[in-house]
Amino acid sequence: MKYAVDDNGFYGKFGGAYVPEMLYPNVEELRQNYLKIMYEPAFQEELQGLLKDYVGRPTPLYFAKRLSEKYNTKIYLKREDLNHTGAHKINNTMGQILLAKRLGKKRIIAETGAGQHGVATATVCALMGLECIVYMGEVDIERQAPNVARMKMLGATVVPAISGSRTLKDATNEAIRDWINNPENTYYIIGSVVGPHPYPDMVTRFQAVISEEMMAQLQEKEGRDYPDYVVACVGGGSNAAGAFYHYLDRPEVKLVAVEAAGMGIDSGESAATSVLGKEGVIHGSRTLLMQTEDGQVVEPYSISAGLDYPGVGPLHAHLHQSGRAIFKSITDEEALQAVLELTKLEGIIPALESAHALAALDRIGAKPDEVVVLNLSGRGDKDLATYLKRFHFDGE
Ligand SMILES: *Cc1c(COP(=O)(O)O)cnc(C)c1O
Repeated sequence: MKYAVDDNGFYGKFGGAYVPEMLYPNVEELRQNYLKIMYEPAFQEELQGLLKDYVGRPTPLYFAKRLSEKYNTKIYLKREDLNHTGAHKINNTMGQILLAKRLGKKRIIAETGAGQHGVATATVCALMGLECIVYMGEVDIERQAPNVARMKMLGATVVPAISGSRTLKDATNEAIRDWINNPENTYYIIGSVVGPHPYPDMVTRFQAVISEEMMAQLQEKEGRDYPDYVVACVGGGSNAAGAFYHYLDRPEVKLVAVEAAGMGIDSGESAATSVLGKEGVIHGSRTLLMQTEDGQVVEPYSISAGLDYPGVGPLHAHLHQSGRAIFKSITDEEALQAVLELTKLEGIIPALESAHALAALDRIGAKPDEVVVLNLSGRGDKDLATYLKRFHFDGE
C-alpha cells in the first residue's frame, strides 16, 4: 500500500520515532510486538467480540435523505456517534487495552485535552480492572468538569499538569515523564494517530474498522464497496485515518480532511495545521505543526476541543503534501451552523468536531448521482453547554 507506513515508521518524509533515549526500550517493545499481537486469532476474536457487544459495532451507515436533498448529492453518515461513550475514540482504546494486557502491563496512563480520550481510556480500564492514571492540564480540568467527573467515577486518577500553559501539551509531557519512570509495568494509551512510530500506524489500524464496515455497507446499499467521497474532521486525525484507510490506494475515492479554522485562518486563533503548519517534530514524530520562526509550538484555538491540536498525525501530513487528500478549513461559526442544520434536518445532534466535516459538504463539489460518506465522529451531548450559550432557542 503506497500510503502505508514504511519499515522505519515513515509516511514519505513524515513520522519516525524521535524519542529520548530513556523511552527507547518502551517504544521498541511496542514496535516489535504490535502487529504480531494484533493479528493473533485469539486477540482478534476478543477484540471483535467486545466491539460488537460492548461498543455497539458495526455502527450504522445511514442514508441522510433530507441532508442529501439540501446538498443535491447522496450523503451517508457513518454513525460513530452511536458508539459507547459517544465517539470513535473507544475503537482505539479497546484495541490498545487488549494489547497492554497481552504485554503483561498492569498500569495504564493516558493524556487528555478535552477529556474524551480520558473517558474512553478510563472506561476500558474499568472494564478490564486495570489501574488508570490520566494526565490533564489544570486549565482543561477546570474547563471540562463533566468529563473529569466521568473519569473519576470510572475509577481513574486524574493528575493535573501544572507546568507551561497547563493544557494538552503539558499533560503529554507529564505522561511521557511517567512512562520513562515506570517502563516495566506501565502502558501508555495514545488517543490519536500521533506520537512516535508505531502509534500512528497502530491507532490507524484500530480505527480502520470504520472503513472496513463502510465497504460492506456500501456494497449492500449501493452495489459497490466504495463512495466517491469520504469526508472526516481532523484533530490529530484518528477518525479520518480510520475512515480513509481501506480507500487510500483507490484513487477513484476522493478523501476530504476538514480542519478547524477557529476564528479564521488569519486571525491568530486557529487550528488549521495544513495551512498554517510547517515541518517539525512534535510528540515524537516528524509532521506538520503550527510553530513560530524559532520553532516554539503555537497554542492552537478552536471552539471544538477535539480539533484544538497544534499538529496533525504524520499520515495526514503525507496525504496533504502528496495531494492524496483534499484539506478544507471551517470556522467556529460555520461549524455551529452545521450543528443546527443536521439537528433540524435529520434529528441528530452532532459533536462540534463532526460538525466541521458537515460544514464542508457545500465545498466538495459532489454531483447529484455521486455518493458521499461523512464520518460522524461523535455525538453532541458533551457540547450541550456550548450550544446553550451560542444558540437562542426562540424559534429562529
Ligand atoms: C477527539 C475527537 C475528534 C478528533 O480526534 P481525531 O483523532 O482527529 O479523530 C473528532 N471528533 C470527536 C467526536 C472527538 O471526540
